[in-house]
Amino acid sequence: MTVFSNQAFDDHEAVQMFCDRETGLRGVIAIHSSYLGPGFGGCRYWRYGSESEAVEDALRLSQGMSYKNALAGIPFGGGKAVIMADRNTPKSPALFEAFGRAVDRLCGDYITAEDVGVSVQDMEAVARTTRHVSGLASKGGVAGGDPSPKTAMGVFHGIGAAVARAFGRNDLEGLRVGVQGIGNVGYYLCSFLADAGARLTVADINRDSTIRAADEFGATIESTDNILAADVDVVAPCALGGVITADLVGRLQAKVIAGAANNQLADATVGDLLRQNRILYAPDYVINSGGIVSVAAEYQGNASDEDVDRNVALIADRLTEIFAKADKADRPTARIADEMAREAINRSEIMPRPMSTDSAVAN
Ligand code: NAD
Repeated sequence: MTVFSNQAFDDHEAVQMFCDRETGLRGVIAIHSSYLGPGFGGCRYWRYGSESEAVEDALRLSQGMSYKNALAGIPFGGGKAVIMADRNTPKSPALFEAFGRAVDRLCGDYITAEDVGVSVQDMEAVARTTRHVSGLASKGGVAGGDPSPKTAMGVFHGIGAAVARAFGRNDLEGLRVGVQGIGNVGYYLCSFLADAGARLTVADINRDSTIRAADEFGATIESTDNILAADVDVVAPCALGGVITADLVGRLQAKVIAGAANNQLADATVGDLLRQNRILYAPDYVINSGGIVSVAAEYQGNASDEDVDRNVALIADRLTEIFAKADKADRPTARIADEMAREAINRSEIMPRPMSTDSAVAN
């Protein structure tokens, strides 16, 4: 396993492996950049094929969080945790309490929340052993709670901006949208889209999820193999990363890709291909930043739910700016977004951080 020479390393500030003998917990916390503030990003619980895969996923995701947080204008750097799921160590409150202790040892340099495979209930267990956690049970009217509905809301606004750019229209009535992955975000996204009059096609490896979408939103069910190449106007990848490949670009029928999944492009050259094929790509870490906006506001403790909704709606403006810059320069949207994010990070100054006096853990 390599870290420094890993393609995804990108000068990470810190990569920590953690382990808890009692619960069998094993995982990685990666902190990409703390230029704008402590590393903030969710925790993924996933069955990886190897340690190397887990490390690479943590690195790629935490770099994405740096860029996401920078462009969302929130005072946090990028970090991410992955827990290596194992059939011998199923999810349990004790496992997440142990994860909380691993987070707490970093004294606030990394703040955690939900990602794939992790629920509000899991984060409640984490909160028993560290205060550097967000996405806890919501307290009505106050910002916070499960970030998925806010992520979906941001993706919905982003689809609106992309459709305006690609099709020159300001409504989604009758628009055909294919959604890959009807999990936490995908389900809420379908609900927003159905309310706006879009016609949905959905796919998920979990058949119950697609049946629910068919029942509740009148969605047509598509095979998981074909959903991204389906005959629709927009595809919204809302499952896992790496799904937009060079091979797929030639088969795509949609003119817009705008979804929640992190790291959608298999590699940066796929973004170039999309541009050449006149397919508009909404950079993933811009369109899916609604959740981090929500949990960051919760962590800072100074915002109402309405404030969060207002900030999430700004995702449309941010994407419109990126689309315009990309058109002006005739360059891929993904590269424009990366440059804007790096500029925002480089503009910041490294603030001297006081020595930590943090010991928030309940003994
Ligand atoms: P989730 O685990 O609740 O949902 C993912 C869904 O995708 C599941 O229903 C799963 O069965 C399905 N799936 C997996 N592989 C599939 C395949 N090959 N084809 C079709 N469906 C498949 O996760 P989520 O919280 O909804 O997040 C979805 C994506 O959005 C992830 O990439 C996540 O990193 C990203 N994201 C989530 C949030 C958030 O607030 N939850 C925020 C930003 C980004």
